[in-house]
Amino acid sequence: MSLRFYDTSARQVRDFTPLREGCASLYLCGATVQAPPHIGHIRSGVNFDILRRWLTYHGYRVTLCRNVTDIDDKIINVARGEGVEWWEVAERNQRAFTAAYDTLGCLPPTVEPRATGHVPEMIELMRRLIDRGHAYPAADGSGDVYFDVTSFPDYGALSNQRPDQMRGAADTDDDRRKRDPRDFALWKGARPGEPSWETPWGRGRPGWHLECSAMSTKYLGGSFDIHGGGLDLVFPHHENEVAQSRAAGDGFARYWLHNGLLTMGGEKMSKSLGNSLLIPDMVRKVRPVELRYYLAQAHYRSVIDYSDDALAEAAAAFQRVEGFLTRAVEVVGAVEPAGRVPGPFAAAMDDDLGVSQALAVLHGHVRDGNTAITEGGKERIAELAGQVRAMLAVLGLDPLSDTWTQSADSGLSDVVDSLVAVALEQRQAARARKDYAAADAIRDQLLAAGVVVEDTPRGPRWELRRS
Ligand SMILES: [Zn+2]
Repeated sequence: MSLRFYDTSARQVRDFTPLREGCASLYLCGATVQAPPHIGHIRSGVNFDILRRWLTYHGYRVTLCRNVTDIDDKIINVARGEGVEWWEVAERNQRAFTAAYDTLGCLPPTVEPRATGHVPEMIELMRRLIDRGHAYPAADGSGDVYFDVTSFPDYGALSNQRPDQMRGAADTDDDRRKRDPRDFALWKGARPGEPSWETPWGRGRPGWHLECSAMSTKYLGGSFDIHGGGLDLVFPHHENEVAQSRAAGDGFARYWLHNGLLTMGGEKMSKSLGNSLLIPDMVRKVRPVELRYYLAQAHYRSVIDYSDDALAEAAAAFQRVEGFLTRAVEVVGAVEPAGRVPGPFAAAMDDDLGVSQALAVLHGHVRDGNTAITEGGKERIAELAGQVRAMLAVLGLDPLSDTWTQSADSGLSDVVDSLVAVALEQRQAARARKDYAAADAIRDQLLAAGVVVEDTPRGPRWELRRS
């Protein structure tokens, strides 16, 4: 079976055929860095990280370009509210996003361009659009530049809307600057006290949509394979990106993939709702790898309605997988990931990244593996553990991989391991001399320190208690 994706533009599942054999180019709309990320933002990062890993598994050389929108009305407003520079807000929040992607085990993009570093490319694109009769500077000399929607007959095709039923784009200080209310701003003329850059049409700053067309062309070429982003970006952002690039004569994206949103109580994450789900707070509830499992397990196109219970269930499901690997290694020694994933797992992933079905295959292997441990079939245990690691690797969830074993606290974990081992020896000694009160006291003291001890047939095991 071939690799295929649901293409928003075609409104159907299509076989994936790359533009250049052996290569896959991806553009992903990244963060507008006005605030630190909540898990709704990072879901997109996790979903597309899995896409990238799966393409890599297929042997493609993947180039991933994910932009950073570092200038925007919202960023300027936050800066104004805090009495600091716009770039201070952008830098701070970009660092928070990078930290969050790292925490969740997302591989860094091949390139992460910032809007304000690509003003010359944007001016060049506006010039092409104006020359071809698809854009115009506002007649009042304000410095605004607009895209002429009526000049592009396919406008609305991506989001499946008829232009005559569209409302105007609410992105101007004065509607009279536009020839048509649906025309959207490529460039916003300078306003007092706001950052601006010189252009042939006056000073101003980028409209949001323009940067993605300019930067994808610069790094991936006029045509590239996959454009990704959240479902909330289809209109107007992606519709406008297509219009800009195609009207300028570029082929632009060949496949459009959109991840579903993360809601809370059925509501789209607003800033106030999102504040309760910031990444540093989330990784106090569960470990980062468990949070990644939670965000990855649903199909990328489905809605995730956040709940603490569902998060805890996901963490427990991940722990079952991890527990099998831990026991397997205890029985058979180190296990390397298998070279290939099992066929049914691959088939699920090939079918528009069916992670939920793929995880069902994974959990089947874990159950078989646990049975093999009970029955003592070492070869079978090693085989299944290797397959489980291979499947986890393409989801970025292998707990034995460097990503998760070399996390920030792993050095400390080795120290704790040695200290707990000393305490557990004392406990075993107390038990051996039938001093159960002393043995229990040691266990209770460990628990008070946040270490949970579990007695297993192969001896005691410990883990840190999660609050
Ligand atoms: Zn974009």
